[in-house]
Parts: sequence; C-alpha cells; structure tokens
Amino acid sequence: MMTVRTRIAPSPTGDPHVGTAYIALFNQCFARQHGGQFILRIEDTDQVRSTESSEQDILRALRWLGLQWDEGPDVGGPHAPYRQSERGDIYREHAMQLVEKGYAFYCFRSPEELDEIRETRKAQGLNPGIKGDLELPADEVERRLAAGEPFVIRMKVPDEGVCVIEDMLRGRIEIDWAQVDCQVLLKSDGMPTYHLANIVDDHLMGITHVIRGEEWIPSAPKHQLLYQYFGWDMPVLCHMPLLRNPDKSKLSKRKNPTSINFYERMGFLPEAVLNYLGRMGWSMPDEREKFSLDDMITHFDINRVSLGGPIFDVEKLRWLNSVWIRESLDDEQFVARIKAWWLNRERMMPLVPHIKSRVDVFSDIVPLSAFMFSGMLELTPAHFEQSKLEEAELRRVLQFSLWKLEALRDWTKDNIFGDIKGLAKGMGLKLGDFMFPIFVAIAGTPNSWSVMESMEMLGPDMTRARLRHALNVVGGFSKKETKKVEKEYASLIAS
Ligand code: GLU
Repeated sequence: MMTVRTRIAPSPTGDPHVGTAYIALFNQCFARQHGGQFILRIEDTDQVRSTESSEQDILRALRWLGLQWDEGPDVGGPHAPYRQSERGDIYREHAMQLVEKGYAFYCFRSPEELDEIRETRKAQGLNPGIKGDLELPADEVERRLAAGEPFVIRMKVPDEGVCVIEDMLRGRIEIDWAQVDCQVLLKSDGMPTYHLANIVDDHLMGITHVIRGEEWIPSAPKHQLLYQYFGWDMPVLCHMPLLRNPDKSKLSKRKNPTSINFYERMGFLPEAVLNYLGRMGWSMPDEREKFSLDDMITHFDINRVSLGGPIFDVEKLRWLNSVWIRESLDDEQFVARIKAWWLNRERMMPLVPHIKSRVDVFSDIVPLSAFMFSGMLELTPAHFEQSKLEEAELRRVLQFSLWKLEALRDWTKDNIFGDIKGLAKGMGLKLGDFMFPIFVAIAGTPNSWSVMESMEMLGPDMTRARLRHALNVVGGFSKKETKKVEKEYASLIAS
C-alpha cells in the first residue's frame, strides 16, 4: 500500500505567515490520519528575497504552534538536503533532460524583447503568452551558447486546447493552454524557478498528496505537463481555500496581523491558534469549536473542507483563546505559561538595562515597562495633543513611518532609526517633532527610553500593529485621501 507523504514548502522571504501554518496543519493532519509522513522543505531558490533568518523564524513559529514534521532541513531525513538552494545540480540536470528530449528550449531574449513580442502578439489579436515559437534553430543556439550569451531554459506548452486538472476538493478544473506561458524552468543565474524545483522535489521526495493554497491553481497545468514530460506519476492535488480578512478580501497584513510572531507576542496560546486555524474551512463532525490537534487528527476528513473563503477574525480567535485559558489551564499551568511568555530570558534580557537604571524597587518595574508587555495601547486623540505638528502632518508621520517600516527587512534599531531620520528629513520636519507621535504610538507616552530600542524589542509585527492603531486613533485616511498620500509618499521615497 502506498504510504501517504505530504509536505509544506515555505519560501523564506518574510515573516512566518498564518497561512503557512494553516496549510501545514492540514498537511500534517492528512498525513497522520493515514499513518503517513509530513515533510518540511524550504523553497529558497529566490536568492535575492530568501534569508536564513526568515527560515529560522518560520521553523521556530511552526514548532511553537506544535506542528511536527518527520523530515526537514533541521531534522534531516532520507531525502536530504531539504533546502532547495543546496540542490542546484539536481534541478540543472533535470532541466537538461527536458532540453534533450525536446520538451524545453534555450531562450536568449531580453526582458525588453519579450515585452515587444507580447505587444506585437497582442496587436495581432493573438494571446500575448510567451510560446515555443521563440525557439531558435539548433545552430543558432550553439553559436550563442559558445559566445557565452546569457540564457534561460523554458518549457514548451501547447498553444491551444484545454488542460484538465483533477483536484481532490474541486473536481475537474479546466484551464485554456492559450493562457499559459512557456514557463522559465532555469533562470539565467542557473537557479531553478519554483515550478521546476517544486515538481522535481515532490517527485524525488515521494510526495503523494500536494495540499496547498488555491493561489497555485493557475500553476497546475505547467506542473501536470512537467510530470508528463518526465514520465512520472503526479501526486494528488488539493487546493485549499485562501484565508480572508473579515471584509472577505484576501488576508493581508494591511488589514490583519498575519505573522505568527504577532500572536505569540500578544500572548495567545499556541493550542488556541492552531485550533482556530483548524476551523478555517473545516469543522469537527460534531461541530464543536474547541478541539486539540490530536482531536483534529482523529476526526480529520479532508472532504469536510468547504471551499467558501474562511474568515480569519482576530476577535473570534481571542474568544477561542479565552475558552482555552479558562477550560484547559489549571492555576499552576496558568502561572507557568505566563512565566514562559513574560518572564522568559530572551524577552527580559534586552529590557534589563532600561529597567535597572530607572527603578528603585521592583514594584517600579510594572508601571515603567507595561507598554512592553501590552498588546494594543489604550490611546485617544488626547494623547497626541502635545504634538507640535498640524493634524494632517501628524497623520502623515504615522502613515509614512508605517509604510517605511512595513518594507524594512533587517529589523535593527539602527535600520529603524535610518528610516525614521530619512523620512523626517524628506518631510522637512525636526526629528523631535517627527518622533513625538511615534513615541506615543509605541510607548503610550513621549517620556520613555529610546523608542528605536523599544521597537527593536517589540519586533516588527507589534510595532506595525501599534503604528496602525495610532493612525486609526487620530482618524486615519479615507480611501480617496490614501491615493493622494500614497503618491506623496512615493515621491518622498524616490527623492
Ligand atoms: N514555495 C511555495 C510557497 O511559498 C510552495 C507552494 C506549493 O506548496 O507548491 O507557497
């Protein structure tokens, strides 16, 4: 009998996303329920955007939630390495196999040339997709290769017809081949694209079921074709519904904190977060709302997944968390959990220099540092009254800082300060005036220790959430205003 093997394949290009945990959870439940294995593979072929710290963060966050994989870059396994950046030769070899079989070809076109081809095709009323007619005669390819011209390798795809995909939850999905590009498989830097690496690894790692987000449906035709080209059996596909904001839009950090770290920092229980993710599009046969990972595995049935977009609502999660706190923690456990959350070494040590130099007795500690252990602060417009800035300017300061810090990758106080200083200068504001609303947003008062250090310690998610909250407290921007403010920001950043 076939052993079920599933996988989660995160790309380490940002914060550990709740969507990753949600897909991981369903993969783990499906594998466990069938007595199979669940694998974690790191898809870091995008060398510009992937970072080691993001990988560490993702693994740590998934483990904090209580997820457990049988094979992975950290635990090893029979199919190591589990990090795609360490498997380059395997992909190159496979790309060459496809070229030799005539299923893929060298492409020397520059991005500008490709744009031109697209435009011409459009003007001729053809579908603008990149197709196999870009292939050059063999001797021309030889000549260009010998001359050392940069190239990519593309797969061939049919010009027309319909590709039929079978999905475990959705049944038959039809996609016109005309919409599908001759996908790049190997990039000019010799690294594979997601599509090639993903297929090769799923095959070599014996993955039997690919359970992933519905945003990957448009890629499925290319994947299916690659399996055919290689002559491999294709795993069963299952595209899960995407998580949504309460307004039904796709879950985004602009509207909801999406990083698992945020929920940890807020003091949610991992069991409750995992339980809530299990309720995303799925329910227990008896519809009970509170259940553990073990309960979920015991009763798991992927066919109970409903395709209507599940709403990730922080208020509901808070409620579920409160149920867990009251029903599942006795007083001893409650104390142990707070200690682990609050008085842990990792969190306390960076705080100590600030606290130690300011307190006389331990009872001074809580009032002094409460903001470091809170979630959203209780702010009102009155908190900002002492600001020297006009109201409109003040809102811009908060909005621009938020946008700038949303883009900051390497979260250190020096980088934060660099961003803030740059904005203040660009807006022609005195640094002190610029900083006032930032202090209030982060610490609730202008009289605290270095706000850059607070932001560093609070981490990107809590910092951004507090800036967003402060902006809402002072009125925010209407949709119409946002357009204008976005333009101002873009030109400020460009100058
Ligand atoms: N690396 C992809 C991601 O980041 C994996 C998609 C898949 O599961 O095929 O979501």
